[in-house]
Amino acid sequence: MRENFYLFADEEELQRESSVRQKCLYGSTDTRDHDLADKLHYCNKLGSGGNRKPCGSPACPHCVERYKKWIMEEAKVVFVEDAGLLFVTVLLLNRRMTDEEVMKFDPKQMHNSFGKQLRRAGIRGPFLGCLEMDYNMESESWLPHYHLVMMGSDAKQIEVLRKRFYCIGGVGATNNTAGGRQLLVRETNGISRQLSYTFKFRWSRIEGYFSPTSNRHRTWKYRLNATRQRLALRTLDRIGFNGFLFLYGLRRTGNKIVKLPVIEKNG
Ligand SMILES: [Zn+2]
Repeated sequence: MRENFYLFADEEELQRESSVRQKCLYGSTDTRDHDLADKLHYCNKLGSGGNRKPCGSPACPHCVERYKKWIMEEAKVVFVEDAGLLFVTVLLLNRRMTDEEVMKFDPKQMHNSFGKQLRRAGIRGPFLGCLEMDYNMESESWLPHYHLVMMGSDAKQIEVLRKRFYCIGGVGATNNTAGGRQLLVRETNGISRQLSYTFKFRWSRIEGYFSPTSNRHRTWKYRLNATRQRLALRTLDRIGFNGFLFLYGLRRTGNKIVKLPVIEKNG
């Protein structure tokens, strides 16, 4: 995989992805999908319907790219110490959703309760994260999960996370299994790549398969079918970038992300 796979895709690649999404949306019988397709089509364009401004939607590959660049600049300030950053994925297995639930989903409550759980566990942060959903073919449901970029200096934090949550990492992850829970954490080999993955806003379909080479059950990501792709794009657009951003030990003020003072929790 090339470095920055999810980042700085050239203009042509972004346009291609945007066209694929527009085609999918225009293929719908629902006019709301056509409206979103128009939005993507006229993003940053002059001419009839175009306003030469970014559309600002997480459904738009061009705008996702712009958002990532902003996040990266902010992350440089937040993680200035660069003490071996870690990348963690937390699956909310008990918060699976149906298509109908996704349609009405508001992530605020999920962010709040996840933050509360972290606080109760005495986890300090700061975490810079994003909520994402994948459609899991085996359970036939949407699985919400958090991708988090965190400081890796404190091994205890990972222990606590492992005990509390079902966590997975990505390719090249270290695997520690205990008590049926799995924590796959990987050290970041370049924060830009991790952030790019974390803030990709690309919901997928997950299929499981048995790998004879590793003798394990594995999963692979595919593009969603047209109906769910439309649902995903409409949901991304409805909730907006800010709604998916998860900050822990951090706060957003205007266009800046700032660290909150550390509150030591005793006992
Ligand atoms: Zn756009």
